This record gives sequence, C-alpha cells and structure tokens, in this order.
Amino acid sequence: MDPYDRLQCFWGDLHCHVREVRRDRFSSGKLGADGPSTLDEAYAWGRENSRLDFVAVTDHDTHLTDAEWTDTVSAARRNSLPGRFLAFLGYEWSHVPDGPSAGYGHRNVIYRGFEGPLLRCNQPNSDTAPKLWCELRKRVPLTDAVVIPHHPARAAGSVWWNIDAHDPDLERLVEVYSLWGSSEKPGPPFEIHYLEQHSPTGRGEAPGHFVQDALARGRRFGLVAGSESHDGRPGNPLFHGPHRCGAAVCYRGGIQAVYAPELDRDAVFDAFRARRCYGATGVKIALEFTVNGHLMGAEIDAVKERTVQVRVHGTDTLAEIAVVRDNRDVFAVAPDANTAEVEWRDVRPGAPSDWYYVRVTQRDGNMAWSSPVWVG
Ligand SMILES: [Zn+2]
Ligand SMILES: [Zn+2]
Repeated sequence: MDPYDRLQCFWGDLHCHVREVRRDRFSSGKLGADGPSTLDEAYAWGRENSRLDFVAVTDHDTHLTDAEWTDTVSAARRNSLPGRFLAFLGYEWSHVPDGPSAGYGHRNVIYRGFEGPLLRCNQPNSDTAPKLWCELRKRVPLTDAVVIPHHPARAAGSVWWNIDAHDPDLERLVEVYSLWGSSEKPGPPFEIHYLEQHSPTGRGEAPGHFVQDALARGRRFGLVAGSESHDGRPGNPLFHGPHRCGAAVCYRGGIQAVYAPELDRDAVFDAFRARRCYGATGVKIALEFTVNGHLMGAEIDAVKERTVQVRVHGTDTLAEIAVVRDNRDVFAVAPDANTAEVEWRDVRPGAPSDWYYVRVTQRDGNMAWSSPVWVG
C-alpha cells in the first residue's frame, strides 16, 4: 500500500515577519510600508493570497515587547480556523554574534499550541542555543516545540549556523531555502553568495555550514523552506524590504509542505516532528518519496536492498529529479514532462548508515527538496 494514500499534503510558511514592515530601519521606502502591518492581515494574506494551509508569524525575539508577544499569542488563536487554516505561534531567536566569531545563528521556535514562552537571545537564561533548549525543555513538553535553524550558510552579518550546537529532539527541521537562497550545498542554483555580492556588507557563503555539512556530521534534519518575508506577506512576499540591496533583489520566498492525515493542529505538528515535510521555492510542486515504502523523514533499520520511489507533479516541465545518497547525486532522470514516477534500486553494498533525499528541478528553475530517509 502506498503510505502517502492515507495522508494529505498541506502547504505553509513557518518563517515570516510582520512588525519589521513598520520598524526596520532599512525598509524606510514606500514599498515596505505597503505590506500588511497587522498580524490579522498577514495571516489573511497567507490564507487567501498565498493559498496556504498554515502560517507562523515569526517576528524577531528582541524586537518584541511583552505586550506584542501577548498580541502574537492571541492573533494565532484568533486566526486558527479548525479544518481550514492553522496559525502557529512562533518567533525568531536571532542570536547576534559576540565579537568577530559567529554566534549560534538564527532559529525559529514554533509551538504546538497557543501557549509558550518568548525566550530572547539577549536574556541570560536563553542567550546561547544550549540554554535555549534547556529552557524550552523546562517550560514546554518536548513534543510541543520545534526549532528550525534558517539561512544556515549565510555569511553576511556572521549569522551562519553553528552546527556544533544541536538538540536532536528539538531541532527536527532545517530551512534549506528562503529568499536568501539555498543552503543545501555551495554554489548555484540560488547561491547565497550571489545575493551578498550585491550587499555593501556581504560576505557570501559560509563554507562548512551547509545542510549537507550537517547531514554528513550525522545530524538528522527534515528539510523545509520558508519565505522569510519581511513585508507581512507569508508565502509570497512582494517586497523583500530590509534584504533589498541596491538593485539586487532577493530570490522568491520559499514555502513548505507537510504530509498529515488532516488539517488539524496536532496532526500537522506531529508531522513537523516526524520530518514528514519538504521545501520548495515558492511553488507547489507535489513530491512523494519513499525508501522501501517508508515516508520521507523516516529512520529505518539497516537493510542492504533499498528501493527508492519518487512521484512528482510539477508546476512546470520537470528538468531533473535527482536522488541524493550521502550528499552525492547517485541517480537522476530528466522527465521532460510535468509528471513523473521514478523507481530506482540501490544495489551497492550497504554502508552502515546512509541517507537519501530527492531534489527536483523544473525547467523554470523552481525546485523542491524532500526530507531524507535514513537507513541504518
Ligand atoms: Zn533570521
Ligand atoms: Zn527571519
């Protein structure tokens, strides 16, 4: 039986900002002021314009006053329409480097329910990533929070991802793509370096801090994408506000899919934690991927024979579907059609532990990345 048959695919954005529309000193132009400036309007944009099923507004921790956090909590509650739209409560823990060395990077904290503390990166009990996790574990049940590092390989501002600091029970996902570009691996397409070349302060990519680097170190993350909209438009930013550098415009924002039995808060949050998710560059590329019949995000026992199955329905002609094993592209097809089904048997002798994921590239340049399946 196809394990995806019992699941539905829902689309969302767990990374967008609203209050920067008004506040960020870089978005002083008229375009920035045009964006929705209230949480209600932002959720409505995600629901009605971007046609998303779930959204979390993740304003920066240190920008939020206690009163604004209280508003964020009530807006998430108010904008959740059971069975129709889920508003998740969250914020961005945006650690600032101390001195010349990088800090811990930026991580979005998303809660299952409508209660959860705002833990700021400038408070003594949560000013490092390990302290953040420790505090989260104290304050909320472990299964009710997920922490998502983002723009892992972005060097500008020294905000790359500190891979050394990792909590496998909380950091279930990583944002492989946003309007900053792709942090899957160095270079094009969607290289972060390209954007930073156009920035007066840019330093391009941060070598050793890509998602593939973390996977190679045994980290087991699901791959998702977010818009990182700073103009209050989840899923489909029109203006990239603080990130517009001179004439250079950032890439289109990303979105993520999740496989859950229904559009129910617990079902969807469970799917985040199970890594039953994937990321895309802002278009809804349908992607199913199994290894020996196991869904994306799964960890399965060591087995020598692996059958990889992929089903894709693109929004444009599919230029390439690549199967990646242990960070190497080991199998690829060029379907030259919008829809493709691929089956590939990996017959090489099994290594003690391998991971597989799928990368889809359309002719129009849009892409999707599945979460991995780990074998062994
Ligand atoms: Zn950030
Ligand atoms: Zn952000």
